[in-house]
Amino acid sequence: MDFKLNNDAIEFRNEVREFLDDQLTEDLRRASRLTVGTYTDMSACNRWYKILAEKGWIAPGWPKEYGGTGWDDMQRHIFGFECFKAGAPLLFNMGVRHIGPVMMAHGTQEQRDFYLPRIISGEDIWCQGYSEPTAGSDLAALKLRAERRGDEYILNGTKMWTTGAHFAQRIFCLVRTSDEGKKQAGITFLVMAMDTPGITIQPILTLNALHEFNQVFFDDVRVPVANRVGEENDGWRVAKVLMQFARSNNINMAWVREALQRVRDAAEIESDGLQGRLVGDPDFSNKLSSTEIKLMGVETLELRLLSEMSGDNNPGAMSSLLKSKASELIQEVSELMLEAVAWYGFPFQMEALDPFTEAEFVGPEYALPAVCLYLNQRSTTIASGSSEIQRDVLAKRVLGL
Ligand SMILES: Cc1cc2nc3c(=O)[nH]c(=O)nc-3n(C[C@H](O)[C@H](O)[C@H](O)COP(=O)(O)OP(=O)(O)OC[C@H]3O[C@@H](n4cnc5c(N)ncnc54)[C@H](O)[C@@H]3O)c2cc1C
Repeated sequence: MDFKLNNDAIEFRNEVREFLDDQLTEDLRRASRLTVGTYTDMSACNRWYKILAEKGWIAPGWPKEYGGTGWDDMQRHIFGFECFKAGAPLLFNMGVRHIGPVMMAHGTQEQRDFYLPRIISGEDIWCQGYSEPTAGSDLAALKLRAERRGDEYILNGTKMWTTGAHFAQRIFCLVRTSDEGKKQAGITFLVMAMDTPGITIQPILTLNALHEFNQVFFDDVRVPVANRVGEENDGWRVAKVLMQFARSNNINMAWVREALQRVRDAAEIESDGLQGRLVGDPDFSNKLSSTEIKLMGVETLELRLLSEMSGDNNPGAMSSLLKSKASELIQEVSELMLEAVAWYGFPFQMEALDPFTEAEFVGPEYALPAVCLYLNQRSTTIASGSSEIQRDVLAKRVLGL
């Protein structure tokens, strides 16, 4: 494999850098630095979304005919890398990453014509209704019932851990339409507006006191059959493609590299408790180097997957390896940051984490998100399929065990 960029790629990278230099204002960058959840402050996200949409760069993975950039894999990688390096907000964009590709692959022309432009413009934010209180890793055990009555489905049941349900306009759901045969064979993929009568949203606060998750209840919710994506009882096939995209889309190693650089920068400033800087402490510096080496390994894996991806951009089961390794590494980096900021982690300063507040805070800015981020990132080895499940996929589908 040759990791060197050719002239075209360098030219493209320069164009991206120029755009980011120009458009990423200091307040957007600050919002990004203060990210403590799975996405940056929503008002910063919305602003950045619109800037990218106006430039025509909001959907790097989509073909041009649907409003995407038509970029190849390497251009997408460069774009993602440069965005993280420049400190762009972390977007909540299940529309672009998840449901858009599904609509293109399995939706009707009418569905594509209606939904895709609304994703591109930012008019519709989507959330994902897969997990339930008794269906997470074993997703096929889901029970949310959709009973067919004429040209409608009537939905009853609940979805759990639904990130962003409280601000999303639409939801894509896996629902149970049959109990016959294998569990997977009775599942259907439906989409609906969040303001459909009968849907109620109950917040769930995370360990770091953020409101990202929700439980969503469905009581006699009427959804037109026209909102079905794919055939009835064929939703598992539709969802499987989406899950592979989700795993490979979720983590970009440039983000982890930036996080590690921040740890290094902090360690250059923080004391070792004696008369030197933390970065010179042999124990801490060993840990930094060990994490750096692991990071290089995972970055190589990411590039390898990128170069091996088939024409349809489906990364396959190997995305499980990237997902599990990258999420474990993210946790390791957040632990190092916690160690670096030491006692600055003690004050509970939620107000100061609002990027647009004037609130005063204790300690340096880089210490502000450390504890919240550490707590939030305990979830990276669970979200989008836990590490145990990823290893199961690898054992079966890659190693053939
Ligand atoms: C940050 C975050 C965001 C999320 N956002 C969404 C969302 O927007 N929409 C949505 O639908 N869901 C969402 N989820 C839910 C997520 O998909 C589930 O949490 C995940 O699939 C695990 O399911 P569970 O929580 O029910 O845990 P369980 O499946 O109950 O697992 C509990 C533990 O048992 C282990 N385990 C389970 N089965 C096996 C097995 N066969 N072999 C070995 N170990 C096993 C797991 O690894 C885990 O450690 C989110 C979760 C997180 C953490």
